[in-house]
Amino acid sequence: MTVSQKSPASVPTVYKIVPNDEEPMAAQTTEQLVCGKKIATVLELIQQFHGWTAPGLLLGVFMVDRARKLIGPAVEADAVVETFHCLPDAVQLFTPCTLGNGWLKVLDWDKFALSLYDRRTLRGYRVWLDLKKTRTYPDLYNWYMRKVPKKDLPLPVLLETILSAGPHVLSACPVRMTDLYKRRKKGVIEICPSCNEAYPVLQGRKCTACQGMGYAEQMTIPLPDNCSPGQNS
Ligand SMILES: [Zn+2]
Repeated sequence: MTVSQKSPASVPTVYKIVPNDEEPMAAQTTEQLVCGKKIATVLELIQQFHGWTAPGLLLGVFMVDRARKLIGPAVEADAVVETFHCLPDAVQLFTPCTLGNGWLKVLDWDKFALSLYDRRTLRGYRVWLDLKKTRTYPDLYNWYMRKVPKKDLPLPVLLETILSAGPHVLSACPVRMTDLYKRRKKGVIEICPSCNEAYPVLQGRKCTACQGMGYAEQMTIPLPDNCSPGQNS
């Protein structure tokens, strides 16, 4: 998908989302800023970071925008996201919170909701997709509730719906954190007697993998020749 932008004088900026350089969808006219960025920029950033313009991620940007506005620019917010699908990337793209820095936590609940909160006061806001509000956007409802096959709801149509619906299908409420707000600490580090790799002793007398809970088994075949140290190509 490509995103093109036209800025004729005296007319609002027009953005076109063009799937695979064909079938231009109806133009979305907006000067709207989401997360401080123009829609065209948001779409480009999503494409670069996520690999494609996922509708859930685009909707997520509106959610992050709402939460950021509610909590205010002065607050260093941490984030909790309630699904592994799409939404964590909206937080990672448009807030300083990432999985790597530990400021973002992700719950495997598959609920389309997120919270941003002040890490000092533990107060913040939860924002969610409010299905009642999607009634006036049947494409959005049908997509989220999986009521229509993908082929019957082309991506450009869905993206355009989300651009119109974005701020209007969300609800928000103030929250006070009761869990998940503690930063994860490694604690004491030891050397695993089985694999000789460092691991947190909280895991037990051996590392998790050596206790039989690993995710892969080692194979006894040689590495490819081009992977020895010092060979970068
Ligand atoms: Zn081990």
